[in-house]
Amino acid sequence: MGSGMKAFHATQVYFNRAADLMGMDERIRTALLTAKREVRVQIPVEMDNGTVETLLGYRVQHDNSRGPMKGGLRYHPAVDMDEVRSLAALMTWKTAVVDIPYGGAKGGIAVNPRSLSVKELERVTRKFVDQIHDVIGPHADIPAPDMGTNYQVMAWLRNQWEKYHGFNPACVTGKPVEHYGAEGREEATGRGVGLLAFKLFRRFGKSPRDNRVAIQGFGNVGTHAAKFLHEAEFKVVAISDISGAYFRESGLDIPGALRYAMHHEGRLEGYSDADRLPAEKLLELDVELLIPAAIGNVVTNENVSRVQANVILEAANGPIHPKADAILEKRGVTILPDILANAGGVTVSYFEWVQNLQHYKWGINRVRQELDHVLGSAFEQVWQESHDAKISLRTAAYKLAIERVHRATLLGGF
Ligand code: NAD
Repeated sequence: MGSGMKAFHATQVYFNRAADLMGMDERIRTALLTAKREVRVQIPVEMDNGTVETLLGYRVQHDNSRGPMKGGLRYHPAVDMDEVRSLAALMTWKTAVVDIPYGGAKGGIAVNPRSLSVKELERVTRKFVDQIHDVIGPHADIPAPDMGTNYQVMAWLRNQWEKYHGFNPACVTGKPVEHYGAEGREEATGRGVGLLAFKLFRRFGKSPRDNRVAIQGFGNVGTHAAKFLHEAEFKVVAISDISGAYFRESGLDIPGALRYAMHHEGRLEGYSDADRLPAEKLLELDVELLIPAAIGNVVTNENVSRVQANVILEAANGPIHPKADAILEKRGVTILPDILANAGGVTVSYFEWVQNLQHYKWGINRVRQELDHVLGSAFEQVWQESHDAKISLRTAAYKLAIERVHRATLLGGF
């Protein structure tokens, strides 16, 4: 697989581009890129049939100069130290660019969660916590859901961690709402994508109504982005999932498509209120805004010449290959980079943690308002930096993030 791996290579390229621009010393680069701690543990689990399987679990804590480290926990067969290490660094830049008081971390277990029973999944999760509970926690490193994990896994994780350390729901985010989870976490990434698209087009002086949007991926991020953009009166003309792309020139009935997916196990297969296109054609449509919200590396050297959108918002991690990115930049295409575009999720995770620490629950309106505030000010800063320094939004976002982490590291001292 490796959307993560690919996202990692891209992250390295973009980090170095910004660091070159800043004239950053090689030794400082090494200090900023090296993870604080890397843990690999053995997870022996008893399977339902009585046999014992030995799995490997990882947690990489990249940087804590700006606050406790934060990052998802991924269950996928391709998880390894390299991937987790790179995704941990990505979290450091993501939390820094939106300026929430966190560093970056990531973890995972090399396992296919669909091959496990619910009981096995629970045992794996609890065993993993047994191995790493002393290095994670509300003021050290706070896990969250990622590929292959969900709110149920987070509820087990919290329960197991609290067996060692006592009540403290802030030890993990992405929990069920009934278990100190935050209202609005589910919609946060997609909503953030929508909010940022709205702000970007307002900056261009363009009204949503005159702008056509194509969204690749109709999962958590894609559906919530589509809903927000439709409500904001953008013309969403194309959506897609693994079953293919669905297109309507005059604009899709997004509430109808959402209802359809809800009644068909989250899939669009069979949706007939639109024209059908091969899935990859979505990327090449004549639209003003393209939102890849599915997997990494979908805009490549091979198809970049056929991409027509003048604005691309990276809802997925690393959807544009760095070589394609360079071509698009030359062509004057505006790209809102993943480290900002999909930071709504970690931002609302931060709100969940704040609420847990204060033992105070916010309503959905407060969550939405604060999300708008955090993403809005990050967007304005990145936009300003890009214009002042005459650099792309991506390089501006990395530059701001790296400067913040660098400065915090120097202030703290060694
Ligand atoms: P998801 O699993 O809920 O949905 C993924 C969607 O993409 C599904 O509709 C799937 O059918 C579709 N898809 C997969 N391959 C495709 C292809 N080749 N062509 C078209 N559609 C395809 O995942 P998600 O949580 O919505 O995450 C989407 C992306 O956003 C991922 O890259 C993820 O890393 C990133 N992201 C998610 C969050 C979050 O909070 N969920 C936060 C940050 C980044």
